[in-house]
Amino acid sequence: MSHNHDYDLIAIGGGSGGIATANRAGSYGARALIIESDDVLGGTCVNRGCVPKKVMWYGGAMAHSLRDAEGYGFDVTVNGFDWHALVEKREKYISNINNAYAKYLGQNNVETLTGRARLVDANTVEVNGKHYSAERIVLAPGGHARVPDIPGKEHGVTSDGFFEFEYQPNRVLVLGAGYIAVELAGMLNAMGTKVTLGIRHESFLRDFDLMLQERLMEEMCGEGVEIKTYFTAASLERNGQLICAVGEDGERLEDFDAVIFAIGRSPSTDDLGLATAGVEVDKRGYIPVDKYQQTNVPSIFAIGDVTGQAELTPVAIAAGRRLADRIYDNQEGRHLDYSLIPTVVFSHPPMATVGLTEAAAREQYGEAVKCYHTSFTAMYNSFTEHKAKTAMKLIVTGEDEKVIGIHMIGLACDEMLQGFAVAMRMGATKRDFDDTIAIHPTSSEELVTLR
Ligand code: FAD
Ligand code: NDP
Repeated sequence: MSHNHDYDLIAIGGGSGGIATANRAGSYGARALIIESDDVLGGTCVNRGCVPKKVMWYGGAMAHSLRDAEGYGFDVTVNGFDWHALVEKREKYISNINNAYAKYLGQNNVETLTGRARLVDANTVEVNGKHYSAERIVLAPGGHARVPDIPGKEHGVTSDGFFEFEYQPNRVLVLGAGYIAVELAGMLNAMGTKVTLGIRHESFLRDFDLMLQERLMEEMCGEGVEIKTYFTAASLERNGQLICAVGEDGERLEDFDAVIFAIGRSPSTDDLGLATAGVEVDKRGYIPVDKYQQTNVPSIFAIGDVTGQAELTPVAIAAGRRLADRIYDNQEGRHLDYSLIPTVVFSHPPMATVGLTEAAAREQYGEAVKCYHTSFTAMYNSFTEHKAKTAMKLIVTGEDEKVIGIHMIGLACDEMLQGFAVAMRMGATKRDFDDTIAIHPTSSEELVTLR
């Protein structure tokens, strides 16, 4: 531990990555400080990301359950949906998490400071005009939603704006084709908003396995989302309370209460003093790091979204904890392996994926690749009027049929993947899947009985 500095570790950013690093470092006895510019701790995930998103997703799932109830003999009359009430409860839930974070940090003797931090040199940070020094600095400032540079862009909002909606909009246009676009379009639609999703190409989530793209597209269209393919907004116009999006080809999508941009996120590195401290950034503004999360400046590390690798909360947390394990608990060589990261898109229905897509597997392993598929109606849906299909794909390679990709979409797939991801990490083969006794009756048993 350093005695020449105010702290052993300063984390810039009190989100998933900064908190995880400082907490773990503090638990080993390091003197750690977190600097957060927001009034509350938790960062994107807790305040305007995963957590409020999942609450709204559950809201959408609840609407579907009410719709499905009749199939199970219930005579349900839904008298309304109080968006405002749900939002109020959601915000209360978030504020409990904010408080819990403050408590855990206290238990690990981590200090917190509110203000915008700027690097002064390799060991010094300036906040509110005061300097703080540390033997090591961890940059975890996360990212922010991008807004296209088009006329009328001020009429649109980003996912941050979506979480500020106090009342349910009637008609919404979502522009974008990634996780956020698909998730917001799905949950708004499930809760009764009329949704148009404008995407630039023929499909969305184009980095995902084709089977998932196609199935979700069918499912969303079947649920009533209007998907406008090959639509790129050239401008937004306001007409009284309503907004119109004009496409590059002149097509006009009219009469929306809200337009949401979900076109990707950029790293929050402006005004962080990176150049002053000599920290390099890449062309897109992300901070490159080595496998130990170290930047080109030896005392400065970066974790989470700002590094431009899998922008997911558990990734930021895992990278931060491993960094602290290595430095403050002498766990030599400990670092995050960024391969085989499982991920779920909380669409309606959810999709879950880990490993290579079929296209990537064929490119990498050629003829050695084999795919096992299944598509079925889950027992739950056998009784409901709305018949969502569940689809699964297992991708294997080589004579021993090592599993290199799992892709699924359907009811409960979000909760199914975690354990399978463990098996894959351990090098599971198709035979291991076959030798595992199925749990019956479930949908997940289909994945261990594929032929
Ligand atoms: P953040 O959590 O963004 O934290 C960075 C913090 O740094 C912020 O609080 C910011 O205020 C602060 N900061 C920035 N600059 C400074 C500065 N100069 N000084 C002081 N403080 C500063 N991931 C999932 O795994 N699952 C999901 O379901 C999921 N859903 C998402 C839904 C949405 C709508 C969004 C936007 C993201 C979602 N994500 C999800 C991604 C996840 O939120 C991020 O990957 C995660 O928050 C990254 O953590 P981080 O620590 O890198 O940054
Ligand atoms: P993504 O990077 O997932 O997707 C953005 C997509 O929008 C692009 O891939 C592109 O698709 C399209 N796009 C880009 N520019 C434009 C434009 N000018 N006009 C229209 N469309 C455009 O970004 P998101 O903002 O959805 O999410 C950011 C990250 O946050 C995700 O990558 C993920 O890591 C994380 N996240 C995770 C979640 C989860 O775990 N469930 C949920 C939400 C976010 P195309 O090229 O096909 O047009």
